[in-house]
Amino acid sequence: MKTLFRNATIIPMRHEAGEADVFRGSVGVVGNLIALVATSEEEVQAFCASHPNCRIIDCTGKVLMPGLINTHCHAAMTLQRSYADDIALMEWLNDYIWPFEAKQSADDIALGMTLGVVEMLLGGVTSFVDMYFHESRCVEVVERLGIRALLGCSYFDHSLEVAKADALAACERAAGCDRIRIALAPHAPYTVSREVLLASKHFAEEHHLPMMIHLSETKAELEQVAAQYGMRPVALLEELGLLNDRLIAAHCVWLNEEERATLREHGVIVSHNAQSNMKIASGAAPIAEMLAEGLCVTLATDGPCSNNDLDLWEEMRSAAFLQKLSHENPLVLPAREVLRMATANGARAMGFAEGELGVVQQGAVADLIVVDLNKPHLQPIHDVVSNLVYCGKASDVEWVMVDGRMVVEERRIPGLDLAALYREVGEAANRIKKQVAER
Ligand SMILES: [Zn+2]
Repeated sequence: MKTLFRNATIIPMRHEAGEADVFRGSVGVVGNLIALVATSEEEVQAFCASHPNCRIIDCTGKVLMPGLINTHCHAAMTLQRSYADDIALMEWLNDYIWPFEAKQSADDIALGMTLGVVEMLLGGVTSFVDMYFHESRCVEVVERLGIRALLGCSYFDHSLEVAKADALAACERAAGCDRIRIALAPHAPYTVSREVLLASKHFAEEHHLPMMIHLSETKAELEQVAAQYGMRPVALLEELGLLNDRLIAAHCVWLNEEERATLREHGVIVSHNAQSNMKIASGAAPIAEMLAEGLCVTLATDGPCSNNDLDLWEEMRSAAFLQKLSHENPLVLPAREVLRMATANGARAMGFAEGELGVVQQGAVADLIVVDLNKPHLQPIHDVVSNLVYCGKASDVEWVMVDGRMVVEERRIPGLDLAALYREVGEAANRIKKQVAER
C-alpha cells in the first residue's frame, strides 16, 4: 500500500519549537508508516519515481492532519441514543440504562458498536478507547471496519470474573491485529470495591493490560467514597497502587491541586469529556490547570447517552468553550491546545510514545484524515486551526486512513450498506425497548 497526499494544507501537530504549525506540502505513506513529508516538488517527484504505483489523492483546498483520538466512550451505547434524556442521574441509570443493558445480547452490543465505529470513522476519528461489556465480541467489528481501538472490558463489583474471561478472549481474538489492544476497565471507585480493585490490578499486571476507570466525575462520587473509606477517590486509587502511566482516568472533574499533582507524578492519562460533564451537570473539570501543570490531558465524547453523539469536533469546541466560561477568561484552552488534546496527547492513551502516532511526521504511524475546507462555515481562512476547532464538523472529513489503509473514501466506507445498518439498529433498539417495557 502506497499513497501520496498532494498539495495539502498540513497540520503536523509536532512539538518542535519554531516549526511552522501549518504548511503547504505533500505526504507519502508506505505500508502503515508516513514515509515522506515534503514541501518541495523535487521530493515529491523522487517519491513518485521510487513508488511508481502509488495512489495519488489531490488535497488542493483541503487539510491533511492526524486522525482524531477519542479516549473514552461506550460506543455500543448508540443503541440507547436519546432513549432517556433530561432525567436525574440515578433515575436514568436505574429505570432506563441498566434495564436496557440487561436485555442486550452480545450481538446487540456488536451491532451498536458497528454504528458507533461507523459514526466515528466518518467523523475523522481514527482511534478510540472503549469501555463496555462483550468487548471480545466487538474485536471482529473493529478488525472489519479498520479503526484503531483500545477495548476496555468493563465491570461492576460483582462481575470481575466475567470481565477477566472477556479480556482473555478478546486478547486471543485480537492477537493477529496490531490495531487492537485490550484493557481492564473497572467502572468507578464507588461501584467497584477496594478488594475487587486490588484484584483487578493484579490481573492487569499479570496479563500486561492497561487499565481505565471513571474517576472523580461527580460530587456525589466524592461523598460516597468518603462515606465508604474516609478518603477521596484519587487517594483510594493511589493507596491501592492503581495510579500509573497505563491508566486512563475519565472525567477528573473534581480534582484539587494535590490530586492533580498525584496524577501527574504517576503519569496518569486524563480523559476530558466536556459535553458529558455539561449534560449530566457534573461540573467543569480544571483542564487549563492540568495542562499548565504538565498532565497529559486527552479528549473524549463519553457514551452516546450522555452526549449524545461520538463527534470529536463538537467536543473540541465544547471543551474550549467550557474552560473559557468556567474560568471567565477567553485566553484559556486555545484552539491549538485543544487540537493537541484530540491528536498527539490522545496517542499516549493508545499506548504510543510521543511522535509515533497523532502527528504528521516521517516514521509515524499513518493515521491521517483529509478535511475539505470548501464549505461555507470554513471560509474565509484567517487561521485554519481556529476554523477547524471552532467551526469544523464531522461531515467535513473526506478521507480517513488508519494504519496506512484508506477506510473512508470521499465520505463513504467502501463496502458498507448504511441503509441496512440503520434498519438493523432500529429493529434491535425497538425490540430491546419493548422487552424492557414488558418486564
Ligand atoms: Zn463513561
